[in-house]
Amino acid sequence: MIEANNFEVIIGLEIHVELKTKSKMFCGCDANWFGKEPNTLCCPVCLGLPGALPVPNKKAVEWCVMLGLALDCVIPEFSKFDRKNYFYPDLPKGYQISQYDKPFAINGHLVIPSERSESRNLATKGSASLDFSRRLDRGRNDNLRKICIRRVHMEEDTGKLIHAIVNGEKCTLIDFNRSGVPLVEIVTEPDIRSSEEARSFLKKLHQIVRYLGISDADMEKGSMRLEPNISVRKLQSGKDTPLELPSYKVEVKNINSFSFAKKAIDYEIERHINLLTKGEIPKQETRGWDEKKGITYSQRSKEEAHDYRYFPEPDIPPIRWATNFIRQLADQIPELPDKKLERFMKEFGLSEYDVTILTDDKDIADYYERAVSVSRGVRPSSNSRSDPNAKVIANWIINKKADINKTSPEELVKLITQQNQKVNITEEELVKVIKKIIEANPKAVADYKSGKEQALMFLVGQVMRETKGKVGAEFVKKVILKLL
Ligand SMILES: [Zn+2]
Repeated sequence: MIEANNFEVIIGLEIHVELKTKSKMFCGCDANWFGKEPNTLCCPVCLGLPGALPVPNKKAVEWCVMLGLALDCVIPEFSKFDRKNYFYPDLPKGYQISQYDKPFAINGHLVIPSERSESRNLATKGSASLDFSRRLDRGRNDNLRKICIRRVHMEEDTGKLIHAIVNGEKCTLIDFNRSGVPLVEIVTEPDIRSSEEARSFLKKLHQIVRYLGISDADMEKGSMRLEPNISVRKLQSGKDTPLELPSYKVEVKNINSFSFAKKAIDYEIERHINLLTKGEIPKQETRGWDEKKGITYSQRSKEEAHDYRYFPEPDIPPIRWATNFIRQLADQIPELPDKKLERFMKEFGLSEYDVTILTDDKDIADYYERAVSVSRGVRPSSNSRSDPNAKVIANWIINKKADINKTSPEELVKLITQQNQKVNITEEELVKVIKKIIEANPKAVADYKSGKEQALMFLVGQVMRETKGKVGAEFVKKVILKLL
């Protein structure tokens, strides 16, 4: 029997994010390739024709640095591009322009809820006050986890292979529209200890990328792709965790959803534990994820950096940053999810649960804030905790009482005001009326309890008359049933 408790899971993540710049990374071709007719967005540069010279996309480089800053990375003053050499049909040059030893951003981190606290928060819908930095100080075993980020670098996407049947024959077609689209790679340290933590990290990163507005990070379109590196080590008699990493790791390539990433990791963990229990060491390799069968499968042995014969890209001059330019980029970073969450709780007096939903997507958060400011008749910066509308508006958005894609914040506030005017009796008053009616009609109550449905409708009618039809019959019925 396998004792999973005797093992520790080591996970690092590599994530590729396609930037949504107008043009490609090293040429002027349209970068918006998805759904376009194959091989219509290409030029000598992104087709890798001899003599074509790459010119880096300034916006893409700035966005890559901005993501690095948002992940609390250091931005080294000096940076350069390198050639990563390998032969594959989707790579026409025979090498990919990437970054090797001088990436744009290094040594960052991202704070995520630990597995334990995540489930607790959702269960209690708690409104405990949040202070991320203070909670972080209490260390790794508390309810927050700090995942270190090794690097954030810039590269170019490859073409896309399409396996098809043409004239009855199996063949592989190549579409170069995606070739040369700006791609950012984020690499974490092996700090993640479970598939659930991996998932929260990925969700948080996805959220930040979307907040920055640098990518749709749409996993179905492949604009965010996930690659977990997994290994498992045996714990020594339950004592201190050994400091050394296992001698192997398995990389699962190109996963396109959070839940598949979690499943692939869980599948690998179990496979590794099985092998280790038998005294074997899992093979270092790259595997693929078969979403239909829910299993991973061996693709090839894992490459090491030296297999790629990296060398500096001779056609692009190295980059030296001016400090004030980096500062300007930092100033362009909008308020990020954690900060927004804390501020919404303070400013609007909402629970952590409500705010987590409202700040999940920046558009929803902006919509909410706009609606609150409209209801206050002031600009968004105003601050008043005791605003009952802030909670009401939050409820309308969270419970989807109005379609916010079709209703402007102004219209939403109008709707809520109209609704408030209609129901000008509180639930407390209603309960008082119902109690009175119940007391005054013991026979109807007894009839209902002995099975006469009609007696209930009589009571509802009495309450409706007393409240002059201000409350709907269905609601009255529900409250009566609760009180009986
Ligand atoms: Zn091109």
